[in-house]
Amino acid sequence: MKIRTRMAPSPTGELHVGGLRTLLYDYALAKNSGGEFILRVEDTDQERYVEGSVERMLKTIRDYGLNWDEGPEVGGPHDPYFQSQRLDIYKKYALELIDKGNAYYCFCDQERLENLRKEQRGKGMVTRYDKFCLGLSREDVEENLKKGKPYVIRLNVPANESIDFEDMVLGNLSFPSDDIDDQVLIKSDGFPTYHMAVVVDDHLMGITHVLRGREWLPSTPKHVLLYKYFGWEVPKFVHLPLLRESDSTKKLSKRTGSVNASDFLAEGYLPEAVLNFIMFLGWNPGTEREVYSLQDFVKDFSIEKIQKSEMAAFDRQKLLWFNGLYIRNISLEDLWSRIEKWNQEYLKKPIFDKSTKEYNLKVLELVRERMKKLSEFNDLVSYFYERPKVDKKLVEKFTGNIEKAQEIIKNYLNIYENISNENWNIGYLDELSHEALEKFSYKPKEAFMTIRYVVTGCESTPPLFDVLGLVGKKETIERMKKF
Ligand code: GLU
Repeated sequence: MKIRTRMAPSPTGELHVGGLRTLLYDYALAKNSGGEFILRVEDTDQERYVEGSVERMLKTIRDYGLNWDEGPEVGGPHDPYFQSQRLDIYKKYALELIDKGNAYYCFCDQERLENLRKEQRGKGMVTRYDKFCLGLSREDVEENLKKGKPYVIRLNVPANESIDFEDMVLGNLSFPSDDIDDQVLIKSDGFPTYHMAVVVDDHLMGITHVLRGREWLPSTPKHVLLYKYFGWEVPKFVHLPLLRESDSTKKLSKRTGSVNASDFLAEGYLPEAVLNFIMFLGWNPGTEREVYSLQDFVKDFSIEKIQKSEMAAFDRQKLLWFNGLYIRNISLEDLWSRIEKWNQEYLKKPIFDKSTKEYNLKVLELVRERMKKLSEFNDLVSYFYERPKVDKKLVEKFTGNIEKAQEIIKNYLNIYENISNENWNIGYLDELSHEALEKFSYKPKEAFMTIRYVVTGCESTPPLFDVLGLVGKKETIERMKKF
């Protein structure tokens, strides 16, 4: 059997990082066995539709280096992949259920439904549709339809039955049918509800495995009932742990940090690092191994290794760790081009484009150990490209007073001016600068911090003589003179 998975986002906002996790597992499960991964847009809720969100989601998925075999933009044998363009299909299947007695027209207006709910609440009952319209005669229904009375189509849920299915992670599950409302399948605007559309499409599109977050588990019995009514084979269900902040039992929160997949890229995370991190949000290879490329993940992924727990901790520190690791491990050239791209895309300006590539790569080599995100580069290196702002008052922090700082700079200026251009290198600068400490009886910290601050405008930089070596003789001297 060829595995076919699907990810079915609703365009009601941005792609959540939990959605990206589901997508990644869908992708891996399909690719692992040469199957297909389908993307389908579940845009049946017109009220919650957010303009532009489909385009942004597709871009985000591609920005993470993932793609789909069938779906928007690429098409496929089950076109269209937008549910809003498939209304006739759902209607046809809903009518088929009506014919079989498994669904029925309901003409109740909002007022009746509201009163019913009030009444049920008053009695301490769970609110639920009372099947009133199931009792309408064929003639009544026909008459109402002829008059153009607004209607919905509801699922006819049987009383007192148990709805059983297997989840590949959670095992055999059983839900009493009495807990299920007579779910609306087709709304009065002619659009299907999620439950109707998801079942029809998963069936028609030949989906073999349905992977989704645990929040959808309570919906699954309704889907299973629909499969049974249609006489269709039920796909394999795999419900995945929800994501929580690592120090809480609650869902991911915007207040703690990014939650949308695209925001992590905007923050300066590398897609591979985020993917590597989210691979472990609900899956574990059962070994010590932590670093996985997408390719290796696809090879190693299996449903048996998915976690049973209800929630998986989203440890933001760990994500940062992964990002630092990837920043250190890719080639300097690759890292440079990503920083350039990041600047273009998110700051809308090129960085320091006046310098040579060779110089840029040397700068990057010096600071990459300190970088955890692409976005940190600009602040870490500005003094390699532009004269820094130097606050004369701040320099007293290292010497006690401004006069002493000026004396230090003057003495070192004399030494540095006498170094020939060929000898301007890290080793020689280091040697002469240390000799001078003895000669003038300076403490290393006061002298070197003063020079560092005057040349870079920063208190913390890579090793001082590496910095001076790269900034170059002419520029170092000019900065010192200016001070
Ligand atoms: N459209 C649903 C969502 O927004 C899909 C849920 C499912 O995978 O069945 O997540």
